[in-house]
Amino acid sequence: MDDNSKLIIHRGADEIGGSCVEVNDGKARLLFDLGLPLSSMNENCSKEDYKLDIKGLYKNSKPNIDAIFITHAHLDHFGLLEFIHPEIPVYLSQTAYNIMTKILPLFKNGDFSKLNLNVIKPNNPINIGAFEITAHNVDHSIAESMAFEIRAGDKKILYTGDLRFHGRKNYLSENLSKLKNVDYLLMEGSTLGREDQNQKTEDELMLELAEHFKSEKLSIVTFSAQNLDRFISVYKACLKAKKTLVIDPYTCYVLESFKDLSKNIPQFDWNNIAVYFVKNSIGDKLAVTKDLYKYKSKRISIEEILNHHEKYVIKDNFKITTNLISRFNMDKLQLIYSLWSGYLKKPSHLDPLKNNLIHCHTSGHANIESLQEFVKNIAPKKLIPIHTECAQVYSQLFDARVIVQKDGEELFL
Ligand SMILES: [Zn+2]
Repeated sequence: MDDNSKLIIHRGADEIGGSCVEVNDGKARLLFDLGLPLSSMNENCSKEDYKLDIKGLYKNSKPNIDAIFITHAHLDHFGLLEFIHPEIPVYLSQTAYNIMTKILPLFKNGDFSKLNLNVIKPNNPINIGAFEITAHNVDHSIAESMAFEIRAGDKKILYTGDLRFHGRKNYLSENLSKLKNVDYLLMEGSTLGREDQNQKTEDELMLELAEHFKSEKLSIVTFSAQNLDRFISVYKACLKAKKTLVIDPYTCYVLESFKDLSKNIPQFDWNNIAVYFVKNSIGDKLAVTKDLYKYKSKRISIEEILNHHEKYVIKDNFKITTNLISRFNMDKLQLIYSLWSGYLKKPSHLDPLKNNLIHCHTSGHANIESLQEFVKNIAPKKLIPIHTECAQVYSQLFDARVIVQKDGEELFL
């Protein structure tokens, strides 16, 4: 690599979320991820306040970034894209593209359609300046998450993005472990410092969910519709417990957006799925495009759920859960919470159910043991912490030469 080549972690050197890494050889400038910090989701600041000071990145400036690569469509990895200059090419997976162009426009401020978005296929290198960039799919809590291998000359950088080894696509992360001759490994460490290192597989979680769903009580289950692994676990658990899963039109639409990924992705017209229609802004947008009307064939009413609650499991949605809380005896409801428990600290419509809450979840991130195995297999010349609150313990945990960077600090390669 050119003598002027350098790597800068603009954000993420000592925090989880908000990641942004620059690789620059004096001629081409590449960015990897451009996320919103997690703190932005709790504080009442505008997204604008979290913009990084990177010249030539934003609208109303002369573009001076050659490309931006996004590992996956979680806000803490792409959330600042809405501010970039629209000419800058953004590279991302087909799933991330679908989320940005089909799903996010349903939400306020979620329109990324004017960006220069380019789909990249895994294991298909592309060249920008002297750089060669190859995407590798990895296992994470959203489909088609990518790690990036970046080469120029004889140097190789591997940026993991977010990854785990216990999801339905664990073999993808295992395949990445076989990559050789890595000079710099930028590796996430979200779970470092967390006490609970015990990670169930999605199938183990599915069996646990099925046991809870067998209860006499009506189960309301909270999870992200965009987490396909989890949708499949919840759906399979419903089949096992002989229940029908009731979803909202938004979830039907998300599943349809993922349809081309695999024929094994459940769809609204499959057995044991019913649709509860709610009046909200997303429903209004789906009505305009006529998508909403397709789901009518599977429609069920609140009266049906009230009269035969033993038949159903409800996917949480603000309107339906609030409705059920107001019309049901609380002793007959249970909340199965299948997200990171940290989100529960925020007040929400789920608060009245907190005494009847069962936490049933498995992380989207690898535990320490899996990361240690990964570092051992990759055997990088240097290991750089990112997307972690525990950068300082990398040198104790991992058998590699660790370089702890600060946000904004230049590392000459
Ligand atoms: Zn993620």
